[in-house]
Amino acid sequence: MSLIVTGTIGIDTVETPSGSAQEIPGGSCAYFAAAASCYTPTRVVAAVGDDWPSQHRALLESFSGIDLSGLEVRNGSSTFRWGGKYLDNMNDRETLFTDLGVLEEAPPSIPEKFQDSEIVFLANTHPGVQRGFLERLPERKFTVADTMDLWINIARDDLMTLLSEIDGLIINDSEALLLTDRRNPFTAANAIMDMGPKVVVIKKGEHGAVLVTPDGVAILPAYPADDVMVVDPTGCGDSFAGGMMGWIASHGSWDFADLQTAMAWGTISASFTLGAFALEGLQGLSMEQLEERMAKYQAAAKVGHSSAIPTS
Ligand code: AMP
Repeated sequence: MSLIVTGTIGIDTVETPSGSAQEIPGGSCAYFAAAASCYTPTRVVAAVGDDWPSQHRALLESFSGIDLSGLEVRNGSSTFRWGGKYLDNMNDRETLFTDLGVLEEAPPSIPEKFQDSEIVFLANTHPGVQRGFLERLPERKFTVADTMDLWINIARDDLMTLLSEIDGLIINDSEALLLTDRRNPFTAANAIMDMGPKVVVIKKGEHGAVLVTPDGVAILPAYPADDVMVVDPTGCGDSFAGGMMGWIASHGSWDFADLQTAMAWGTISASFTLGAFALEGLQGLSMEQLEERMAKYQAAAKVGHSSAIPTS
């Protein structure tokens, strides 16, 4: 099935305990598409300014599964920029700055040839903009969104409307707490289901992710990263979503068992992002490498044997 993603393509500056990197390729859409394109062709809709470096374009073009026909480069506009700093635990981070740039302008248009997209991922951007995309994707069959603290704080009303219109939400635990005022991920996920989406994934960094749906609850461990050196966790959430949604689009269904398998692939994709700054960990990644790591993950975590707890 066809997969489309909308979100940010940005220029990041990142500090981690392993080092720092300035003006590197980033953005929610970039990480998602890089991960998803290993599983299925991925259509990108985003906007950047004319300050977007040509090497960043060349990098995205090097992913053969990414279709950039929906990328707008706007003269006189500035690209979205984000700076973040990770604490010693590599799980918690502080946003140092966010320059919205082109995100404050009209959202990019969806090319006609993308309007038949069936699997839709609304990567992190203003929820009002995320809603606007939905209206222009009439063939959508499964729509999942991500959001984050900034949007929960400054655009809660738009976010609540978006939630009533989508099938799934992928969110991290601190954002789920901010959104629902509930610390327990299962209680928070139930509160989110009451807001609309019936597939809720709450990411808990190195502790994995939980899936809550009306059909059941599952807990997936993170990839036991003893053979991966954690260099930069930026984009792990987006590449988790990319692996998950990329697998769903290639598989064509999303029942409870499919969702667990998809989350396992998301976990594997994210584990490659961790090992390097920017998109480097995902560059040139083959299905064989993903499968090899999946085999290790299954052996270590016994995925699919004991993690599913039926709710009824
Ligand atoms: P993640 O680590 O998965 O949360 O994704 C980090 C990426 O999201 C970075 O590359 C940033 O450029 C991008 N990002 C940071 N803040 C925002 C925001 N408020 N809206 C959209 N994208 C963002």
